[in-house]
Amino acid sequence: MQQHDVIVVGAGPAGSATASFLARAGMDVLLVDKATFPRDKTCGDCLSPRAQAILHHMGILEQVDHQAHHAPAIRLYAPNGGCAETAVTGLAGLPHRTLVIPRYRFDHILQQHAIDSGATFRVGHAQRLLLTDNRVVGVTVHDQDVRSALVVLATGASTGLLKASGMLPQRPRFSVAARRYYRHLPPLDPHLELYLNQVALPGYAWLFPTGPQSANVGVWYSGRWPVSARVALDALTRQHPRLRRVLREAQPVAVMKSYPIRVDFLTAQKRWPGMLGVGEAIGLVNPFTGEGIDYALESGQIAAQVITTVLGTGTPTLARLQRYEQQLNAHFRQLFQIMTLAHYLAGHMPLFNRIFGGDRSSQPVVDALIQTCFGMTDMSVLLRPQFLLHLLRSRPMTT
Ligand SMILES: Cc1cc2nc3c(=O)[nH]c(=O)nc-3n(C[C@H](O)[C@H](O)[C@H](O)COP(=O)(O)OP(=O)(O)OC[C@H]3O[C@@H](n4cnc5c(N)ncnc54)[C@H](O)[C@@H]3O)c2cc1C
Repeated sequence: MQQHDVIVVGAGPAGSATASFLARAGMDVLLVDKATFPRDKTCGDCLSPRAQAILHHMGILEQVDHQAHHAPAIRLYAPNGGCAETAVTGLAGLPHRTLVIPRYRFDHILQQHAIDSGATFRVGHAQRLLLTDNRVVGVTVHDQDVRSALVVLATGASTGLLKASGMLPQRPRFSVAARRYYRHLPPLDPHLELYLNQVALPGYAWLFPTGPQSANVGVWYSGRWPVSARVALDALTRQHPRLRRVLREAQPVAVMKSYPIRVDFLTAQKRWPGMLGVGEAIGLVNPFTGEGIDYALESGQIAAQVITTVLGTGTPTLARLQRYEQQLNAHFRQLFQIMTLAHYLAGHMPLFNRIFGGDRSSQPVVDALIQTCFGMTDMSVLLRPQFLLHLLRSRPMTT
């Protein structure tokens, strides 16, 4: 017996966005998450202009904006200690800023939006996918079978459901990041700070203000850690020149947490008979920056459009879901190819010194790179002759 049109497993940004778009299109949607909301999620909590554009489209940007810190610029420290800064440009006429909002609050807004849009929310651990003739026809939640015409996998970096269902032939490769909240910092500039100095490359540490005297501080290394992410972050907060100074009198809030990051969109499986994946469950996290909330929201919108069409005309076979993969590729593939290349180059310290630790001549390169990473401008600017010329002309600071 079919109980729902669609079951969405996971109520993070990808799952809640998918559920709200589907519910608004008139579908009967069950949104399941193992956590009771509001719940914490280990993250840097930064919403790019690209994320804000889709939140605006969903009608919840204002609500998010009221609870968020506004950062008008990004400051980057190069391996040589030099510093570059770039202003953030808003998309689609929106204000020029990034937002920082703890996921405890942000994900709750999204989950409530899905419910307000008409989705039914249930707390429950999806243990296994239900299969009939090799097609996904529902999920087992707390030992109870729940059926639907289609399932959306929105479980983030957690692969437990696929593994328990015998549908994960090979464990994807993960990197791990760690973060901790602090309060009682000295008054901060509102900017985001990214540190490429004193960290293992490719990777970076960050200080993202959550208010005038509070911050989310973390580290991400996209290679294989010689030590755990938490040990690395703990050492950085004591040894990194800038972090040590800023955090000297600060008070940690709650425990330090680490969590895996999946960035394998280019090779990840995105559709199964009767099921689509969205967000980080299909590796949709930027391999160069580690951010993926924007892509999670966008993939939710794309999935909902395809599902509405496919379910309106028949069974969601693997072949009929192909258009989802085509649309994802049209939307994200080039971005991931360029960002994967940037990730490999990011292990190259002299290059970072030229770009972020150089004199003013490298400013056009800094602006173009940050703007493309945050979706503020088209990828193609990185392939233009002017960009490459500026890159060749940039020189690291001499001390
Ligand atoms: C330390 C760190 C810092 C980051 N910083 C940023 C940043 O600043 N900006 C940014 O854009 N991105 C950042 N990211 C990446 C960002 O967290 C992810 O891109 C984003 O959370 C992906 O959203 P999602 O909805 O796909 O998955 P998630 O947000 O992980 O949501 C998955 C949901 O599925 C639920 N779930 C999992 N398995 C089951 C199951 N079997 N049954 C029921 N429920 C289940 C979980 O409880 C969870 O609620 C960071 C990641 C890390 C680890």
